[in-house]
Amino acid sequence: MTNRSKEPPVNEQNISNLSTEDRTFPPPEDLAAHANVTADVYETAAADRLAFWGEQAARLDWDTPFTEVLDWSNAPFAKWFVGGKLNAAYNCVDRHVEAGNGDRVALHFVGEPDDDTRDITYAELKDLVSQAANALTDLGLRAGDRVAIYLPMIPEAVIAMLACARLGAPHTVVFGGFSADALSSRILDCDAKVVITADGGFRRGAPSALKPAVDEALEKCPDVTGVLVVRRTGQEVDWTEGRDVWWHDTVDKASTEHTPEMFDAEHPLYVMYTSGTTGNPKGILHTTGGYLVQSAWTFWAVFDHKPDDVYWCTADVGWVTGHSYIVYGPLANGATQVLYEGTPDTPHKGRWWEIIEKYKVSLFYTAPTAIRTFMKWGDEIPAKSDLSSLRILGSVGESINPEAYVWYRENIGGGRTPIVDTWWQTETGAHMISPLPGVTAGKPGSAMTPIPGISAEVVDDAGNPVDNGEGGYLVITEPWPSMLRTIWGDDERYKKTYWSRWPQYYFAGDGARKDEDGAIWLLGRVDDVMNVSGHRLSTTEIESALVSHPKVAEAAVVGATDDTTGQAVVAFVILRDSALDGGEDIVAELRAHVGQHIGAIAKPRQIMVVPELPKTRSGKIMRRLLRDVAENREVGSTTTLADAGVMDLITSGMKAAT
Ligand code: ATP
Ligand code: MG
Repeated sequence: MTNRSKEPPVNEQNISNLSTEDRTFPPPEDLAAHANVTADVYETAAADRLAFWGEQAARLDWDTPFTEVLDWSNAPFAKWFVGGKLNAAYNCVDRHVEAGNGDRVALHFVGEPDDDTRDITYAELKDLVSQAANALTDLGLRAGDRVAIYLPMIPEAVIAMLACARLGAPHTVVFGGFSADALSSRILDCDAKVVITADGGFRRGAPSALKPAVDEALEKCPDVTGVLVVRRTGQEVDWTEGRDVWWHDTVDKASTEHTPEMFDAEHPLYVMYTSGTTGNPKGILHTTGGYLVQSAWTFWAVFDHKPDDVYWCTADVGWVTGHSYIVYGPLANGATQVLYEGTPDTPHKGRWWEIIEKYKVSLFYTAPTAIRTFMKWGDEIPAKSDLSSLRILGSVGESINPEAYVWYRENIGGGRTPIVDTWWQTETGAHMISPLPGVTAGKPGSAMTPIPGISAEVVDDAGNPVDNGEGGYLVITEPWPSMLRTIWGDDERYKKTYWSRWPQYYFAGDGARKDEDGAIWLLGRVDDVMNVSGHRLSTTEIESALVSHPKVAEAAVVGATDDTTGQAVVAFVILRDSALDGGEDIVAELRAHVGQHIGAIAKPRQIMVVPELPKTRSGKIMRRLLRDVAENREVGSTTTLADAGVMDLITSGMKAAT
């Protein structure tokens, strides 16, 4: 890595651009020669964006063709594929069976307990989804009614989502790891009528109950009339007669015949609550046609999906990545994929790599938080498995630190595989900024450029595009098919949150910079940007500098009020297992490293070595909680944390240190 330390630019207005990254990885020749998408597509799409999306819509089966690609007359409320009718579940399942691919495996399910596996073909999936749709109809569910899904990562989660889609009943999937409170607030917010859950799931080698949280949540939700319960673990459950029914008593006994109704392209498909990294989650509404077009096209384009690929996305279906890149995108393409129930370290830390070897996974999609955890555990663990089937690796959720990118490419991808660093949000529904594996020469740490058909910019406070080499705010300048349609039940909040800062642009809330070639580097949340002596510093760049030190596995950086500099950089770091005894001077060593890597201005005032970092259930660092710690405040709401105990660990460690 070239660590050219240079003088920080004096730039009061925009976010400073401090790091330098010169490595690039061009696509392998063979991949480029056979890639689904070639370089010319960028130009075709830019020449006529709406015609481009109209063509991509032809990847789906429409019962009634649309008459207009986009109606933006009531901006920012979009209508895509106006007048078109389709059924999302039919597009994800039935049509593949009708095309003669019923024997193709849709899901290689891998339960957490060893040898608990189940393969489901597209023909079987069609029967299962039809049965579930019939059982839900018997529970009184009708098109338009909302359904909350609170399940572990088991096939029934996918089946339940598709059954809802088949019936036109918007689903809201809630993480199995969330509390009864988080569940009830989401049920109430979208007024769900039915809940689909399980007795429990397997996690870290033991059954973990779900049904008690549902029972508790429903004390506050009198409008829920039915609860459909999957028997997964065999745990004892309380039962409410007249409300609760077993999946095996109803779905398994229902008819496999079900005729899907066709819905308007703008019929609501689901409500997904955001991760809650910055505050209270927002109920993001996605509709049917545009969402399915963009999730299907991006899966095909960004992962270069071919029929004989085996794909695996490690996300939970409880966040948007699971919706777009486990359920709708892959299944709309007739893909074969792995679905894994458990954690990466059960029964041992090589579990994921064994799964890749066993199923010959060729396309793999995970999050930087997982990659950094594997870096921390050590290179020798993945080295034990044969990972030669992999041809493309993906990353999502946060910026991938350049060091983590290179580690991922080398240790998982055997130095061969392109990495697609995909920037998108719950709100965007599908990929927006990403390399294309057969076209783009990837730079570690950059999401590169908007995909064909998407228009993004980095702008300054006044909304003008910044020059190459400058930082600012990431905006989307034109509507896109899978854009959120509103915040559920709150059109005003939708306008205010996303379309008020610059009314003509969608404001994503992220900082970014364009490098000299125009490639986009995500710099972290605008809310997290620090102002140190007039320099606006990005969390991402300082964190990446820390992670590039061989002793550091993970880092989180926040700005804390400081009498002299306005704000000061405070860093929390997790050391690699091999460096746990960091040595006396680890703090001085890391401060010097940051100074040398990006400049004196970015040197943390304080560095705390911690055992864990607070993360959302989808693995994102929650900096606002760390800011509370750094400023000696009471720690704010931790309801969306994956592990609430982490904050106690950090604060007690702090007290011990002071
Ligand atoms: P909330 O909006 O409730 O605070 P959240 O923003 O974490 O939660 P998501 O929609 O799951 O909820 O996450 C989207 C955000 O994740 C983006 O705005 C961005 O900050 C970050 N992100 C996702 N992918 C990338 C990526 N490839 N590079 C950098 N950041 C990313
Ligand atoms: Mg967000």
